[in-house]
Amino acid sequence: MFDILKKSILSKDDIVTLLSLQDEEKQQLFSYSAKIKLQNVGNKVFLRGLIELSNICEKDCYYCGIRRSNSNTHRYILSHDEVMKAVKNAYEKGYGSVAIQSGETSSKAFVNKIDKIVSESKSVTNGEIGITLSCGEQSEETYRRWFESGADRYLLRIEASSEELYGRLHPNDEIHSYGKRINALEALRKNGYQVGTGVMIGLPFQTGEHLANDLLFMKQHDIDMCGMGPYIEHTNTPLYQYRAQLPPLAERLALSLKMVSLLRILMPDINIAATTALQAIEKGGREQAIRVGANVLMPNITPRQYRNDYFLYENKPLSANSDEDELFFLEQRLQATGHEIGYFLQGNSLHYKGPPR
Ligand code: SAH
Repeated sequence: MFDILKKSILSKDDIVTLLSLQDEEKQQLFSYSAKIKLQNVGNKVFLRGLIELSNICEKDCYYCGIRRSNSNTHRYILSHDEVMKAVKNAYEKGYGSVAIQSGETSSKAFVNKIDKIVSESKSVTNGEIGITLSCGEQSEETYRRWFESGADRYLLRIEASSEELYGRLHPNDEIHSYGKRINALEALRKNGYQVGTGVMIGLPFQTGEHLANDLLFMKQHDIDMCGMGPYIEHTNTPLYQYRAQLPPLAERLALSLKMVSLLRILMPDINIAATTALQAIEKGGREQAIRVGANVLMPNITPRQYRNDYFLYENKPLSANSDEDELFFLEQRLQATGHEIGYFLQGNSLHYKGPPR
């Protein structure tokens, strides 16, 4: 295996081979990526306090629990004051950055709302809080406006980089177009954001080749950040009917860890998030991802009464502990593996070299 890893360029076939490693060899891969990570981005873990702004969504993605057609969802949108309270609290606790994620709409009211949140978050924190947005596909003008108001980063997962697989996961219409999503990623880059993308891992119809190509896609698009995690089925979605064909959850977790490990090897200086879906499969799932290559964590700081409504997939972790206690326990577990939290730091991607000139 180490002969493969020593190659300066990993081919798709190499990656497929590495994704299939088990046991001792898998552990060797993990040790290797852990070392690459420490050499390139160090042992600090950066926080993005995650605010789930709204589950109102115009899209109808076949995998997602908050899709438009799911009438079993109680729809909400946080008020401006609720968001600002969460942002200020995150800032005071030293989170360094917040991530604002939402179901998708491009209404004027929504665009203005985000704009106001972004500019006010910067002004009440002396420009110190880092802001990641994850609010789906928007016009280039909207992206530009949000960037000018102070947003630093944008996370827009390609979900599946294969157009054919993407087509099986989304309705075949204008608002779910693969081409549009790619264009959105390019518009984000052009307008100066640190750009993040990612995929779901363990999807129905997904092969090792798809996953290898996903990693190569991220490299080709020269992304600054990545958020990817296991696909977890949700009862009220069309993909639920394929659940019998899915790899067991433990396998989806193991595959996700291998994806994180390989991406760290392919792109040593980017930011990689240890995503919540990992934790939905196993309590320590995120910490395992940190060990093998991730360096960003997104603790949920959404006001509690809304968390259960932002229900993308089953088993979403909803702790009875306070957010403070959760963070304290997380920190203890991270310290046990030689990591420390980068309090009061934005933790921008080292890969990002500034807006294009
Ligand atoms: N509307 C925004 C945010 C979407 S929710 C956007 O389009 O970017 C954030 C992510 O949750 C999605 O990008 C998707 O990858 C993930 N997600 C949705 N349903 C999921 C499921 N069933 N299992 C795992 N991840 C899921």
